[in-house]
Amino acid sequence: MKSPVSAKIENFMERSSWIRKMFEEGARLKAELGAENIFDFTLGNPVNEPPAQVLAELERLVSDKTPGTHRYMQNAGFGEARLAVADSLSKRSGCEFTQNHIIMTAGAGGALNVIIKALVDSGDEIVITAPYFPEYLFYADNHQAIVKIAETDENFQLDLQKIEDALTSKTRILLLNSPNNPTGAVYPEEALKEVGAMLERVSQKNGRPVYLVMDEPYRKLVYGQVAVPEIFNSYKRSIVATSHSKDLSLPGERIGYIAIGPDNDDIAKIGDAMTLANRILGFVNAPALFQRLAAKAQDVKPDMTVYTKNRDLLLNGLRGAGYDVVSPEGGFYLFPKSPIADDVRFVDDLKKMKILVVPGAGFGRIGHFRISFCCDTAVCEKALPGFAEAIKGA
Ligand code: PLP
Repeated sequence: MKSPVSAKIENFMERSSWIRKMFEEGARLKAELGAENIFDFTLGNPVNEPPAQVLAELERLVSDKTPGTHRYMQNAGFGEARLAVADSLSKRSGCEFTQNHIIMTAGAGGALNVIIKALVDSGDEIVITAPYFPEYLFYADNHQAIVKIAETDENFQLDLQKIEDALTSKTRILLLNSPNNPTGAVYPEEALKEVGAMLERVSQKNGRPVYLVMDEPYRKLVYGQVAVPEIFNSYKRSIVATSHSKDLSLPGERIGYIAIGPDNDDIAKIGDAMTLANRILGFVNAPALFQRLAAKAQDVKPDMTVYTKNRDLLLNGLRGAGYDVVSPEGGFYLFPKSPIADDVRFVDDLKKMKILVVPGAGFGRIGHFRISFCCDTAVCEKALPGFAEAIKGA
């Protein structure tokens, strides 16, 4: 009997994300050896609970008995939520957002799928940079888009020449992610302005708009004085995809949004296309309760205490042990160089120390591995001797 599932998904399941594979391996080892004996750095699942004021608001919303509260709504989302996002963005960016620029979505993943569905024809190209968030490849495939990859430099910053080389007459979207998963890189404003000028030239040359889509669920998770520049000031055809999965620690609730930069042409048409895409992709609309919550939580900042402690502890510990690792400016990941060229083998060596990380191969850059440090500080402390031991044996 042939496989019950489609050949395509069969193939995806086989080479599906390393992150999930390692996470599942972790679950198996935890069952075998006890959770406290496994140091799991695989998933970007925030250890922080949602902020107290957010949980208090949620309790209030849950007990709201107003009739109609749970009905269908406009597919773009509640006006009150879109307006709250628009007001917060206007304040932050100095650009003028209205609710017509905002579409509420099922997380950043939902936002990206809606954007691609709305803008990309079958066979069009999306340029991404490597290392990349591996789900991008699946999202592009969902809409028959072709992915072109532009490598970043040694410090994971944008290589403008490589981006330019990847752009063709079929490019529809340059998709960037800052602060970056898996590297923690934040792209400076000058680089984004140069990217904007480049995309303007290509759009003019081809007579077809190329969009800059910035995936920024980690925007508020930054270290020290780092500020993440607004792309709306760097390029007129800019669109942001984001969520509250990381900054409000709500990944299970699937709440995010799309912000269409106010300088775009044809905003009404783009907004209508995205609204329809939200519906026909089966999201219909973002979860109602959490739209209401998002409306009250736009200016809440994440507590960076644990992430800062973990980052510093691991950076110092790993560097002390001889690892080559770039300091992340945002997010909660480290992407050290593997001491041996074969990152999959080194990840296996770390597993022998009960340490679970994800090989760089899963993010399109071999010779590295990703540590997701949004975990308890004790896990980082207890894992350091194992990291030191593994590099000695490499
Ligand atoms: N983009 C990046 C770079 C991510 O790291 C993630 C989640 O880890 C997502 C998008 C998806 O976020 P969400 O859970 O809000 O869909």
